[in-house]
Amino acid sequence: MQRHTLMSVLSRGSTLLSRHAFPSILKCNAHHRPLLTPINCRSLSTLPNLPLFRALQDHDQSSLAVVHSASSRSFTYGNLVADVVRAKERLIESVGGRQDGLAGERIAFLAENSYDYVVTLLSVLASDAIALPLSPAFPVGELKYIMDNSQAKVLVATEKYAAKAHDILKAGLERQPILDVKEKIKTGASSSDPVNLQDIGQKSRGGMMLYTSGTTNRPKGVLIPQLALTAQAASLLEAWKYSPEDRLLHLLPLHHIHGTVNAMVTPLLAGSSIEFMFPFNTDAVWKRLAAPFLSESSASKITFLTAVPTIYNRLLSSFSGLSPEIQEGARKGIAPENLRLNISGSAALPTPTKQAWQDLSNGNVLLERFGMTEVGMAISCGLDFADRVDGSVGWPLPSVEARLVDTETSEVIQPGEELDTNGREREGEIQLRGPTIFREYWANEKATQEAFVDSDDGRGKWFKTGDVATRRVVDHAGQGASGDWAWGPMYFIQGRLSVDIIKTGGEKVSALEVERELLSLPQVSEAAVVGLPSEQWGQKVAAVIVLDAAKAANTGRNGKPWGALDMRRALKDRLASYKIPQEMKVLDGPIPRNAMGKVNKKTLVKKVFDV
Ligand code: AMP
Repeated sequence: MQRHTLMSVLSRGSTLLSRHAFPSILKCNAHHRPLLTPINCRSLSTLPNLPLFRALQDHDQSSLAVVHSASSRSFTYGNLVADVVRAKERLIESVGGRQDGLAGERIAFLAENSYDYVVTLLSVLASDAIALPLSPAFPVGELKYIMDNSQAKVLVATEKYAAKAHDILKAGLERQPILDVKEKIKTGASSSDPVNLQDIGQKSRGGMMLYTSGTTNRPKGVLIPQLALTAQAASLLEAWKYSPEDRLLHLLPLHHIHGTVNAMVTPLLAGSSIEFMFPFNTDAVWKRLAAPFLSESSASKITFLTAVPTIYNRLLSSFSGLSPEIQEGARKGIAPENLRLNISGSAALPTPTKQAWQDLSNGNVLLERFGMTEVGMAISCGLDFADRVDGSVGWPLPSVEARLVDTETSEVIQPGEELDTNGREREGEIQLRGPTIFREYWANEKATQEAFVDSDDGRGKWFKTGDVATRRVVDHAGQGASGDWAWGPMYFIQGRLSVDIIKTGGEKVSALEVERELLSLPQVSEAAVVGLPSEQWGQKVAAVIVLDAAKAANTGRNGKPWGALDMRRALKDRLASYKIPQEMKVLDGPIPRNAMGKVNKKTLVKKVFDV
């Protein structure tokens, strides 16, 4: 399947499809367990007739779907279809074998970046359930919160994370999930039995749920229904033209929209190959990019890279430490004729980074895009180099409707009204709607309601992103060279409405959540968490605190006064490491507040950190 349009992916017939002719009563295949009754057996040898599963079956079954970079183990689309069917059967068995036993249920899972992760995610979607990937790097305390909030029915873990899964269960969950520890898939399954694509028969209740930090003090579960997930992937497919010839080097965590939708679901929909290489290591990445250009190597070249600015920065700063041979190979590896597409997003791409990458790669221009857990990707620059404009995130992607709402007047900034009466650019909040938008924050009706605003054209509510942008026509860009959608004025991100959302290394952190944890420490009597500019991370998390003098006097390590190191140690088991303040300043007096008791964080940052 190549060069799909959004409409073709979304609207293909919903009749029963199969790659082969098959008898109406299907045989049980060899992998079925004896415990299954013939009825279950018949109904379970299926995948739902949804665009993603139709695509998986339509791809060349012998082409590579997933490769593990370190071990070179690889799995074809044929393996993937067979393994997903198997994993789905096992999942349904785990809840008593009822085909509909999982519809709309949350299935949390802990899996390394690998084929096992892909199979698990797809098997949950195939069960009409909600896939909830957990970050193995999170401390048990954060995972317990997610399990309690989501009320997950099953917790699947690969062998590698079995101990962590047991720790979560021991943490005293509100709803005890069924635990399913899966052996590592060493060789992909194959099946000569045809797989039946079956209409679900009712409205799909499946999808994906990702937890994201916001302006509240606890992360929220963003429910992306199956349909929205497909719409997000179809939109990217149309804009970025993923193809079966693409080999994507996957460097990102898999509990984020970037790593899951852009770098996994969409390439799978397109029939591309995904090569997992995680955790990120600069030397390993450079060597891999260089490999096809070194003598006697049979490595395939990487054609597609999508990462956060911090990754590009780290690659650039480590380049000079490579051997001359690797340097030469790596420069070829990232040259435009080999690396067909290099994308940056999840945080602002600094122009010097973009320029340095372009210089190193002999002219490859990073394509910047803007997205969010709640909406997938929303705005993007185009494939044509002229449509990758410095400082701009481009145009609303196919099927995404975007508007700017003036931050001062609350008026919609209509096309052509981008300048105020003084000729200054008007800043507005980006608001979005369309089929790609999430449905709700899980079990948080209030937050869901507050996130959307009514429209006056009766065509559905707008989602308020909280991000502020300007819009401007740019000469020589937006002429449609990258597609009909990449047309007209371009969006330029200016920042966020709330100072309480900090973006560090592409990860979103709620200042309030970190404050809450700081204030739970006996030594801390006041806390304000802020984002400081950082070349490496975009922003870094910093804390301004006031100590309880008596409790802090000798509760540090070895009876010393309590300090920054003690703070980090105390938060280690409560917060993911990227949320823990990298800097801490202790004030002698109280943190300055206004009459309402609110801290002006912009002033505080200037005063305390002098930036
Ligand atoms: P997340 O939900 O963790 O993916 O974070 C989404 C947020 O990341 C957005 O609301 C923006 O604040 C920020 N973001 C994403 N892409 C960009 C970009 N290209 N430039 C600036 N900020 C971005």
